[in-house]
Amino acid sequence: PVTPGPLLEVRGVSKRFGGLVAVDNADLTVERGSITALIGPNGSGKTTLFNLITGNMPVDSGTITFNGKRIEKLAPWTRGHLGLGRTFQVTRLFKDMTVLQNVVAPLPDGRLRTMFADAVSGHEAARARDLLGVVGLARFADQRAGELSYGQQKLVELAQVLMLSPELILLDEPAGGVNPSLLGRLTGVIRELNQAGVTFLVVEHNIPLVLDLCDPVHVFARGSCIASGPPQQIREDPVVLDAYLGD
Ligand code: ADP
Repeated sequence: PVTPGPLLEVRGVSKRFGGLVAVDNADLTVERGSITALIGPNGSGKTTLFNLITGNMPVDSGTITFNGKRIEKLAPWTRGHLGLGRTFQVTRLFKDMTVLQNVVAPLPDGRLRTMFADAVSGHEAARARDLLGVVGLARFADQRAGELSYGQQKLVELAQVLMLSPELILLDEPAGGVNPSLLGRLTGVIRELNQAGVTFLVVEHNIPLVLDLCDPVHVFARGSCIASGPPQQIREDPVVLDAYLGD
């Protein structure tokens, strides 16, 4: 049974670093089945908000509700277990391990299995190979992760996140540093996963890509959301143009 209401609801969340208010009484809603974008200038608090949602940092105040359950005080791996997955701005693969070993590295509780990746079950390895197929990298399964291009490594990280069957995936700059020839594959994979029922929240600086892929788009400035709407509307919003797209 599906819990009624949005999949993710951030309400009045704040985070300070000393005297700096990085996230300021922010609200954000992610509807089930959407590919929701979070855009905004550098330093506007997007990555900090991601860290608060995933539990990599504690909130100072406010509530975060995922699937009808309050999560803002839960440990990151507990949130992972509930169906919240994320990728990082800079990939965190084990470069000397194979691609397949990297995909099976996350344990069900969200921690990484570093030393025992050789000892994975046949079932897990088969699932990891399937997921590498989903991201179009099946033929690289037994290659060292460090030998792949940066964009391919980002796709490996996506397969790694998928091992835990998340309902919501937070993507931190998925297109950053990715070779243009791989961008089409990346957006294609995100769309396919979305069709299969995965919801996404995406922080991304490539605005044309965001406007093409995401709906709705939330615009952050100085720690909170200043505009939200479908991409066609955001593209023409004078407040957005002034705060962000114009500079
Ligand atoms: P964005 O992802 O939108 O570029 P960030 O969330 O990274 O913005 O940063 C928001 C603000 O918080 C910036 O001024 C940044 O310098 C500051 N900040 C982020 N993380 C930390 C931290 N761990 N300690 C101190 N200041 C931080």
